[in-house]
Amino acid sequence: MSGVEIRGTLVIDGERCKGCELCIPACPPAVLRMSEARNGSGYAYPELLPGCTGCGACLMVCPDFCFEVYRYDEPIVLEGGTP
Ligand code: SF4
Ligand code: SF4
Repeated sequence: MSGVEIRGTLVIDGERCKGCELCIPACPPAVLRMSEARNGSGYAYPELLPGCTGCGACLMVCPDFCFEVYRYDEPIVLEGGTP
């Protein structure tokens, strides 16, 4: 059975987010989605699904510096595929 390989993770500062959604299509494995919830300024913000590669594309594209990106030394494999 194939699992989801996770090679990185994010800290997302949702309160800084302006909801522009530039980060959503910028993510190569498409593991960012906009929240149903809103931040204190009334904007949706990105949430991370399993499968981040730590590539940093979201960090590069975000005009509001919402992301910190961390790469794992060793990939983590989530067995069982997508929920
Ligand atoms: S690019 Fe930045 S400001 Fe725009 S939706 Fe994504 S996190 Fe929010
Ligand atoms: S670091 Fe890369 S893979 Fe991870 S959420 Fe950002 S754009 Fe997507």
